[in-house]
Amino acid sequence: MNNLIQGIAAFQGTVFPGQRAMYQQLVRDGQHPSALIIGCADSRVSPEHITQAGPGELFVCRNAGNIVPPASDVVGGVSSAIEYAVVALKVRDIVVCGHSDCGAMHGLMHRDALARMPAVAAWLRHAEAAERIVCEAYPEDMDETARHHALALENVVVQLANLRTHPSVAAALAKGTLRLHGWFFEIETGALLAYDGAEGRFRPIAEADMPVAQASAAGSHRRAA
Ligand SMILES: [Zn+2]
Repeated sequence: MNNLIQGIAAFQGTVFPGQRAMYQQLVRDGQHPSALIIGCADSRVSPEHITQAGPGELFVCRNAGNIVPPASDVVGGVSSAIEYAVVALKVRDIVVCGHSDCGAMHGLMHRDALARMPAVAAWLRHAEAAERIVCEAYPEDMDETARHHALALENVVVQLANLRTHPSVAAALAKGTLRLHGWFFEIETGALLAYDGAEGRFRPIAEADMPVAQASAAGSHRRAA
């Protein structure tokens, strides 16, 4: 804990005094994050660090494998975070962010390693579709690294589909007030890829070009008109 204690001392001694006004304003005005990021709990994949976002800018929900249980599942931390972000905070964007060297994806590929982690094994059933896709639709001769990479990418796409089953998300998409994004962070290079829903593939994020998994669909869902 020593590192953490030193960090707290540094934050309180030197960082916070310079940011006091900003923090006080965030309490006065409330939080207005523009995006919800659902990321992996992996200690190397910090959404705030990757995006260089400050306090108040991101609403973050992290869990093993950046998983979004479908709305039909038991109500839990992820579904309540999604609902609060969309309904109360009115975020404009939701990002599901996967990453390289993901332990959860490794567990999916090697179920025997989960024998003593029944909670993790049960949680990962929400990613089973990704595993089946890689097993059945990808070349059989892929090596372990390529298979892991494919699984992490497919898992992002599967979790985006689960995300759409949440009523608050479905309604905001139909109203044209929400966009969905699928990201993949490569720890070793710092590269960030984004899923292009129109092209059905991941592309690097460039300054003027942010691929979108699902754009807002203002008007297109008003079928009763
Ligand atoms: Zn992970």
